[in-house]
Amino acid sequence: MRYYDQHLHTYFSPDSSETFENYLDQSDLPVVTTEHLDFFSPAQAMPNVIPDYTGYVQKLDQLNAQYDNRLLKGIEVGFTYADRHRIEDFLADKTYDIQLLSIHHNGRHGFMTLNHDTKSLNTHLDEYFDLMLEAVNHAPYANVLAHFDFGLRGYDNVQLTDLERKEGTLTQIFNKMIEQDQALELNTRSMYRYNNAHLYDYAIALYTQLGGKLFTVSSDAHVAADYQLHFTDAYAMLRRHNVQHLATYQNQTIQLVDLPN
Ligand SMILES: [Zn+2]
Ligand SMILES: [Zn+2]
Repeated sequence: MRYYDQHLHTYFSPDSSETFENYLDQSDLPVVTTEHLDFFSPAQAMPNVIPDYTGYVQKLDQLNAQYDNRLLKGIEVGFTYADRHRIEDFLADKTYDIQLLSIHHNGRHGFMTLNHDTKSLNTHLDEYFDLMLEAVNHAPYANVLAHFDFGLRGYDNVQLTDLERKEGTLTQIFNKMIEQDQALELNTRSMYRYNNAHLYDYAIALYTQLGGKLFTVSSDAHVAADYQLHFTDAYAMLRRHNVQHLATYQNQTIQLVDLPN
């Protein structure tokens, strides 16, 4: 099997209007979309984002008949501790091929809409990675930790030294992931649109040094034009770290495939 993009959104996510067909028509590879699940606190006054699972399954069944069964089912779980039971309840009666774990907000504000003037990067990093540790500790159902740098996207020019200060927490996060067989995602949107590739270089080294072997490369595309965004650059980075395989997920079972050239 050849490697395929494992983090995509369609109109089944509120922040995308893309169609499945526009991904399917770009290759003969499997296509897995990972639609958003996010609960918000009353203070945030935001409607919860809950995927229409029935509609999703119906659409995939219809397209699978036309497209050679190439579509797989995925979800991107936005974790908060407060919502952990609601998340588990939602997942309990669904079957997904892949479940991504993300930390998108802290129950008060989203991490893409920070007020930088009032929150220093250091304060933010402390909070963000503590939330990530809490997430991996309470989400053993996740297959992949998505965009580990999501909370840093809102800050310009995050330096390696800023991230290295959090090495203790990152070590705890990665050790827990390794124990739970969870892959580290190379989110190419973060790496090459938000210029955080250097932070991934560091994270790959740390995760590998701790014994981590499972990686995914994913575009996090919300439009079909971003499908497999900069994948060859991400593959080259992994090759420099002597990584030879990538993890794919069908029915949440890991299948390792060769790192493409
Ligand atoms: Zn996300
Ligand atoms: Zn996403």
